[in-house]
Amino acid sequence: MMYIDERKIEVLLKESQLKLNKKRLDAILEKSLQLQRLSLEEVAILLSVDEPDVVEKIFQTAARVKDAIYGKRVVLFAPLYISNFCANSCLYCAFNFENRLLERKALTIDEIKEETLCLLQQGHKRILVIGGESAPEGQTAIDYFESAVKAVYGVSFGSHKIRRVNVNCAPLSVEEFRRLKKAGIGTYQLFQETYHEATYQRVHPKGPKKDADNRLVAVNHAFEAGIDDVGVGVLYGLYDFRFETLAMLMHIEALEKKFNVGPHTISIPRLEPAVGLDFYENNPNRLSDMDFMKVTSILRLAVPYTGIILSTRETPSMRDKLFGLGVSQVSAASKTSPGGYTSGSKDAKDGQFVLSDHRSLDEVVGSLIDKDFIPSFCAACYRKERTGEAFMNLAKPGEIKGKCTINALVTLKEYLDDFASQSVKEAGCRLIEKTKSELDKSSQEILSGFFENIQKGSRDAYV
Ligand code: SAM
Ligand code: SF4
Repeated sequence: MMYIDERKIEVLLKESQLKLNKKRLDAILEKSLQLQRLSLEEVAILLSVDEPDVVEKIFQTAARVKDAIYGKRVVLFAPLYISNFCANSCLYCAFNFENRLLERKALTIDEIKEETLCLLQQGHKRILVIGGESAPEGQTAIDYFESAVKAVYGVSFGSHKIRRVNVNCAPLSVEEFRRLKKAGIGTYQLFQETYHEATYQRVHPKGPKKDADNRLVAVNHAFEAGIDDVGVGVLYGLYDFRFETLAMLMHIEALEKKFNVGPHTISIPRLEPAVGLDFYENNPNRLSDMDFMKVTSILRLAVPYTGIILSTRETPSMRDKLFGLGVSQVSAASKTSPGGYTSGSKDAKDGQFVLSDHRSLDEVVGSLIDKDFIPSFCAACYRKERTGEAFMNLAKPGEIKGKCTINALVTLKEYLDDFASQSVKEAGCRLIEKTKSELDKSSQEILSGFFENIQKGSRDAYV
């Protein structure tokens, strides 16, 4: 696979056992606390740690690094599945075209608008448009995704609108990515699934996705088309998580070298059972909860300024633990079937995989507040053109945290006033007051101004 030196990764992993000692480990964790990114060798050493008390030290360091860069905010979003038709036969995914048990559906533009309205009525402001590799008859994939993005941005609920649409779709050409950029997308996400060539070939037997390098190159095409915020990811559970983590970081290093900036986000999907398939049950590489927590924290230390996205694949208790370990964005109240929000479907027959967190947005917001995290509906960076390198230049000297906190508090206040249940509203208002009182004078003044305007009915403030 392009950019991935499998031999080097294997040597790094083998040698990491020998290099693992208390002094080296303390030095790595100290470097992380200085918010410096780690080398592949240092990451390999952390990945070889198994002793519970040392793992606990890694967790604590990740929590401190996340707090230093992003503060207490956790950004919320919802996926919007537009189609479950697909030209590929990924062995792990229910959308694979050979799965006869799945009910197929591609949403019309009107249905996409209805789904968006449902999400707006819950209080969502960020959507990830997602679908299989296909398009309804007479359209190309880019026609379909472009119209979907425009449709989502066009829906209003009172003064509420979706403020950022991200897209997760199969590889496109530079020209096609330009169309997505023009439609106003935030991040383009594409997960390599596995960076291990033999595993990649085994789990992608048919369809355009067979070509692993085409997938790697797609990320370059997105950058070349001017999409500054690109998201990468591994489907954890397909192959050894240590190998995958180092390989993804190798990919990130290659992107940084070529484009001067790495990905905006890393997603950490973990393999889930899928309707009609027995791949999950028969897969030997599934990660334990402990290893998954370890990998999340190590990624936070390895690339401290990159957002980490967690989905509703995880159970509520697992998600609660991961919020504290460096996750900066999380999906809530998700459905993985096209039309799932409007129909209220439980993702039984037409969903991509089995969800583990069925809580409402209000419940997720309440649970974050209870743990002292600030749920955020902010989309300011993208709207202020703080993307790509410009974002990293602000994040590195620690300047993004102040903006994140103000925007998190303002968007939370708007959510609480318009959508929250009484108990969440009360707890949220207490958290806002407490957090505000800990900020510097000028941030407090900005916030007071915003809150007065919210009181008067104005919405959509941000810095
Ligand atoms: N079809 C496009 C593709 O494959 O890139 C985009 C959409 S696909 C629905 C989004 C992601 O879902 C995939 O990249 C994969 O990582 C994830 N996925 C597929 N099957 C899964 C499963 N059984 N459990 C967890 N995640 C899964
Ligand atoms: Fe299709 Fe993507 Fe599912 Fe593979 S992971 S079957 S490409 S939707």
